[in-house]
Amino acid sequence: MATYATSLMEDVKAKNPAEPEFHQAVEEVAESLELVLERRPEYRSARILERMIEPERVIMFRVPWVDDQGGVQVNRGFRVEMNSAIGPYKGGLRFHPSVTLGMLKFLAFEQVLKNALTTLPMGGGKGGSDFDPKGKSDGEVMRFCQSFMTELYRHIGPNTDVPAGDIGVGGREIGFLFGQYKRLANEFTGVLTGKGLNWGGSLIRPEATGYGSVYFAAEMLKTRSDTLEGKRCLVSGSGNVAQFTAEKLIDLGATVLTLSDSAGYIFDEEGIDRGKLDFVMSLKNERRGRIKEYADAYPSAAYTALEAEPAGATDPIWNHKADCAFPSATQNEINKEDAQNLLRNGVTVVSEGANMPTTSEGVSIFLDAGILYGPSKAANAGGVAVSGLEMAQNSMRFNWSREEVDQKLHSIMIDIHKHCVSVASDFGTPGNYVNGANIGGFLKVADSMLDQGIV
Ligand code: NDP
Repeated sequence: MATYATSLMEDVKAKNPAEPEFHQAVEEVAESLELVLERRPEYRSARILERMIEPERVIMFRVPWVDDQGGVQVNRGFRVEMNSAIGPYKGGLRFHPSVTLGMLKFLAFEQVLKNALTTLPMGGGKGGSDFDPKGKSDGEVMRFCQSFMTELYRHIGPNTDVPAGDIGVGGREIGFLFGQYKRLANEFTGVLTGKGLNWGGSLIRPEATGYGSVYFAAEMLKTRSDTLEGKRCLVSGSGNVAQFTAEKLIDLGATVLTLSDSAGYIFDEEGIDRGKLDFVMSLKNERRGRIKEYADAYPSAAYTALEAEPAGATDPIWNHKADCAFPSATQNEINKEDAQNLLRNGVTVVSEGANMPTTSEGVSIFLDAGILYGPSKAANAGGVAVSGLEMAQNSMRFNWSREEVDQKLHSIMIDIHKHCVSVASDFGTPGNYVNGANIGGFLKVADSMLDQGIV
């Protein structure tokens, strides 16, 4: 690693101890920016990156609620308002027991650069709680969401900070959060995205991240005069992003072989077709069941439990013959060995639906191999892009049709891809989408920060 990134990382680690995901996210960007700072020393003297990695504001709060047995529960809530140079803070809320401040800082930092890539006027933020919606009744989830919003509402607003969903926060949770915001603020505004269609949501928002990640993969393949048709694809996760990644892949004639949850994964040699995907959507979104039930319903599938795997072990989902991989569950789900397994099994396209699903060692392996590797900042930007379109529709008090939103999403993904390719080439690393996304996102935010003075 070169000198600027090395000394920056020493400071980051000293100042933000025990935040490994945040260190990992900053280090990757700092390495890409070595190329920029040589050419544009004004960014360095204005300490743009140093300012960008310091959140503008962090809100941390108590979230007390009462469970179905009458017991008092206490969780911790957060909102990291990272950067508002190009628009109001924008980024999802994550409800998962693993949530910490460091995890949300990594996600918020990535969000700043990702949002800049979408070309829409959105700053970056992220929030959430260590609350686990899994196994909770609808009443418990509602009481938790109401308590969470009772504190958060005073910090957000349609021109200030506009949260959305992420892991553990889907349509049900956004509904409860919005209801409580409206009650406390006494106004009906587009303060959250991912809303229901009857009350301000946008068509295609649930589909957007998954569809976008597939559109990005298709653009990468186009550079090699290839398409997704007939490609064998490994998809991880079975939540929002994974479901609509699978749907778009099926639409485009690819074969989806796998889906997973935190307990295990299914491998269906015959492929997951539209009917089987409907089963998964009902299983996960309505019955809130486990992916294991897929193998009980379809004998062509084998289920592998992952519960016994030690942390950091290789993940067998990435060890099947395939052409493409769409990690769509969580961060660091592809480690060094997994990356090697993917290459050995013939994978030449990786499009990241999840945020930072590949470890730094895994990323280096993909880049060294010269495969088509679409990092999350670029590949999964479709979700927040359609959130931006939802905000625009709310402001106009008007809704675009499904076709119109899908077409806008598609052209945004084509533009992000084109921008990454052009920036990577400008900085002497053609085909390196990591540099393309990091530098492309950084330049827009950095120039805006320079314009706005030392704030
Ligand atoms: P969901 O909660 O809908 O689904 C998450 C899926 O990943 C579930 O199958 C879940 O399994 C699995 N998962 C979660 N945590 C872990 C873990 N620690 N280990 C193994 N599996 C895990 O979330 P989303 O689909 O919305 O989000 C998935 C990823 O995509 C995240 O990285 C998120 O940040 C990213 N993303 C999401 C966007 C969106 O629009 N929703 C936008 C951009 C990025 P289980 O049910 O067992 O927990």
